Amino acid sequence: MSDIKLFVKFFNELNKASSANTVAVVISDLLKKKTSVKIFDNTINDPKEFTEYLTYLEKVFDESKQLIDGQILINKSSIICPLSIKSGDYTAIIEVESGEQKTLDLLEAVSPVIAMKLENIILDCKFSKNINFNNAMKNIAKIIETQYELNYIIPIIGEILDTFIENHLIYIFLKNNGTMKLMWPASCLDREICETVTHITNESEVILNQTEKTGYFPLISEDHLIGCIVAKSTEGAITQEEIYYLLQLVKQAATTITRAKVYSEILQYATLDALTGFYNRRQLDQRVKQEISGAQRRKTPLCAIMTDIDFFKKVNDTYGHTAGDLVLQTVAKIMRSQLREYDIAARYGGEEFVILLPYTKENEAVMVAERLREAVKKQTIDIEKVNTKNKTKNISVTISLGICCYEASYKDKDLLMNADKALYKAKETGRDKVVVYKSS
Ligand code: GH3
Ligand code: MG
Ligand code: MG
Repeated sequence: MSDIKLFVKFFNELNKASSANTVAVVISDLLKKKTSVKIFDNTINDPKEFTEYLTYLEKVFDESKQLIDGQILINKSSIICPLSIKSGDYTAIIEVESGEQKTLDLLEAVSPVIAMKLENIILDCKFSKNINFNNAMKNIAKIIETQYELNYIIPIIGEILDTFIENHLIYIFLKNNGTMKLMWPASCLDREICETVTHITNESEVILNQTEKTGYFPLISEDHLIGCIVAKSTEGAITQEEIYYLLQLVKQAATTITRAKVYSEILQYATLDALTGFYNRRQLDQRVKQEISGAQRRKTPLCAIMTDIDFFKKVNDTYGHTAGDLVLQTVAKIMRSQLREYDIAARYGGEEFVILLPYTKENEAVMVAERLREAVKKQTIDIEKVNTKNKTKNISVTISLGICCYEASYKDKDLLMNADKALYKAKETGRDKVVVYKSS
């Protein structure tokens, strides 16, 4: 290939490169020599990495100090070419396997364009990090719009932090009756972490452990310590940049958690579930008591249906929580449309609903349940506007249902407990079906 063609190919390939490694491959193709490209960025890498690299060079080249001045260094095995990058806190170095004079000339000729390319790569990387950061902040703030149960909110915050900060394990502790309780994930086997969080106070700033791989970020709300988020790096020390981002995300998380707590206290006194408009759990407990005593008094039948959406976690995971919320609302709407005025529909938990059917015998309850099951299954749900994860536009879900018919020997809590047992059986035996509780 002629030199011109070689250069054209080089520029085209360089244009397409999107990481230091791909740039190295492009240079290596041009020079026909093994090449590596390193970027040292004070805000992204651990500054130690650069010092270590200089020490390594010092061993190989006596004059490594001149490296900073942009001198090319050569020895028997390699050529070291520092690039002058104008803005930012970074340095880039190309290391090429030694060769004839032509290799050196070519390298010198193309190094300014490579420097420019690397600068763009760094800026792109920072830019996309900022976009991801803004999205993470927005998502944490947004949770509160539809959710107020801490048990549900905490895992979402955990997941958002996990996705944003790569190569870190995230732990969320909340203060509960004076002690720090792990809320996410389910367990923490790191004794140092479990021990250190007990010493955090509302005066603590970020605390780094000795290796600087674990950072403790106190969750503070109105000067009170409400918990602590721990980030443990699975690779090098936590960088300044990560600390900067985590501090802000943790602040946002503290606000969201506090608002959720206040909100859930207020909602305890409310009757209806905010997302579905169904009765909430507290109200349901009262209605169960009322309906049982009514049924006893009138000697009329009473049935309860407990229902749970099948594989709902997958809906959240695949299309995002907002899409999950829309599915929940839609399922609730479908159910309401299939019920009589005096049937009682309640949101029992996350995606579990209870329907109380007064004046209804077991065989009639089965018909209602089958009707609900089919109506939900038939409905396609348009999630296009809320799908945050992919391009899927329409989905459908199925539900499993358990039925229990009230019997005079029951205590109040038996009705729902038995309906739940039947629901469990429906799940266990294939889902998308109705199972009636049988006492034997
Ligand atoms: P199964 O068929 O066994 O029921 O599988 P599943 O995935 O539905 O399992 P499970 O009932 O354990 O999962 C319930 C999920 O529902 C977990 C939680 O993330 C989600 N969830 C609970 N409440 C809400 C909510 O208000 N909104 C959204 N989007 N998701 C919720
Ligand atoms: Mg479910
Ligand atoms: Mg469930």
